[in-house]
Amino acid sequence: MTDFTHFGLELALLRAIKELGFEKPTPVQSKVLPLLMKGTEDVVALAQTGTGKTAAYGLPLVQLTDPANPATQALILCPTRELCLQITKDLNGFAKYIPEIRILAVYGGASISEQIRVLKRGAQIVVATPGRMNDLLRRKSAKLDAVASIVLDEADEMLNMGFQEDVETILKEMPETVRKLMFSATMPRQVAAIAGKYMHEPEEITIGQRNSGSENISHEYYMVHAKDRYLALKRIVDFNRNMYAIIFCRTRADTQEVAAKLMADGYPADALHGDLTQDQRDRVMKKFRNRAIQLLVATDVAARGLDVTDLTHVINYELPDEARGYTHRSGRTGRAGKEGVSIVIVNLREEYKIGYIERLIKQKFVHKQIPSGQEVCVSQLRGLIERLQQVDLRDAAIKPFMPIVAEALAAMPPDEVVKRCILLEFNRFLSYYKDAPDLNQGQRPAGGHERSRTRTDHTLVKLEINLGARNGLTPAELIGVINRATPGPQLRIGRIQITEHISQFEVAGEAARDLAHAMSQASYNNRKITARLAR
Ligand code: ADP
Ligand code: MG
Repeated sequence: MTDFTHFGLELALLRAIKELGFEKPTPVQSKVLPLLMKGTEDVVALAQTGTGKTAAYGLPLVQLTDPANPATQALILCPTRELCLQITKDLNGFAKYIPEIRILAVYGGASISEQIRVLKRGAQIVVATPGRMNDLLRRKSAKLDAVASIVLDEADEMLNMGFQEDVETILKEMPETVRKLMFSATMPRQVAAIAGKYMHEPEEITIGQRNSGSENISHEYYMVHAKDRYLALKRIVDFNRNMYAIIFCRTRADTQEVAAKLMADGYPADALHGDLTQDQRDRVMKKFRNRAIQLLVATDVAARGLDVTDLTHVINYELPDEARGYTHRSGRTGRAGKEGVSIVIVNLREEYKIGYIERLIKQKFVHKQIPSGQEVCVSQLRGLIERLQQVDLRDAAIKPFMPIVAEALAAMPPDEVVKRCILLEFNRFLSYYKDAPDLNQGQRPAGGHERSRTRTDHTLVKLEINLGARNGLTPAELIGVINRATPGPQLRIGRIQITEHISQFEVAGEAARDLAHAMSQASYNNRKITARLAR
């Protein structure tokens, strides 16, 4: 197995990343690290968010920096203050055992005189937003003549946010010999234009397909009436216990409204958007990072700088204006090898957008059903039982109190005690979901009109699940899983194909969607099943 020792990184760096838990280089690191350590050419690297780009350029930059020279030797440009701080933090982590290297973040919205003061003391690596960097250059407070490398990180976002002129001005100020490195999730025209104009025959590296979604992410959509959007969100949240998610809205007002409703309904939620002061934003992000908040309702721009790696879900409460924005959002889950789910809530009129996105990410969505009240209750009940099972009975602190319990409950039959305990917690869901309506839209289209992604014919369609031979799945086991997911008459199952990582099988078209849904609620050998139409 390849590790980090082959790149010629010095021991101080190897030790630091080991402490950070980096064992194996990610694909982008495997490709970029050797180039930056050895060669001198310019580099353009395209890779999804969460693929480890910071270390790909950060480790070589730190190593190539001369700690004895106080001059600025590397400049990193990125779109937001939060990213500046995050990158600075990451680089400081890499340089933990090379304390002579000073890394400084400069960004707008903070005192420029303070930043100038620190700059004057010398910082070998500067991480900056383009606007603030330009200010500093105009005031002649930043000296770039010793800069050997400039990195444009999140180049697509930076240009998207209107920093093109600032970026170009800075590039023009650079010494002739500077090495230019560009990192981006996507390669829109604007980005290609900058590369073409300022970079010298760059080495191009593309990890995965351009614009494609990460393999670890499953994409799901739910279709509801526009008026039921919030209720649908609540059901999805209630059904998926322990969700740790960003819920994306398009506008600040919507963000505010959804967060306020969730909080009023008792969920650990809050809003993150541009109308908040920097202080307020910092506070919200901190609470989200340490999980005091589990549902962060955010606008795209506000969520940009937030580096949280272990989201279980990304929820598109509203789709972004451009399909491309969807990849940025969904790329925030399924990171570092973990499985993630990207959920979209649409109404009938928006459903066509799913098709656009599918073509862009080259992955299919699963049309999931909003869980019924009953299903939510069962899920919550299972969670409650799990929690009961996990209570540590060896905890001695309860002991002196047990006689009181015993005396008070002496007359109550044990099964009644259990029932009461469960109801104490569970009643909230039982009463809320009593007679809960079906929120799904467009399930059974009238007049036999066939919708694009729902095949209602009797031919066989192919489904795919995320488990294969390495999970112990055999054809017989797979049939067992299918039958357990479909109580009632047995389904006609066609060809079965089991590979190492995934399995495909054919079932009657009219049953496929319900089956995919049911299977996706199930697990096999403790692994959650994700089922979808095979490509
Ligand atoms: P990107 O810039 O491509 O969006 P980051 O550089 O921010 O991604 O990395 C995403 C997360 O993955 C970070 O939390 C980072 O610490 C972690 N990470 C990066 N490289 C590795 C690695 N080789 N092994 C384990 N975790 C890593
Ligand atoms: Mg990054």
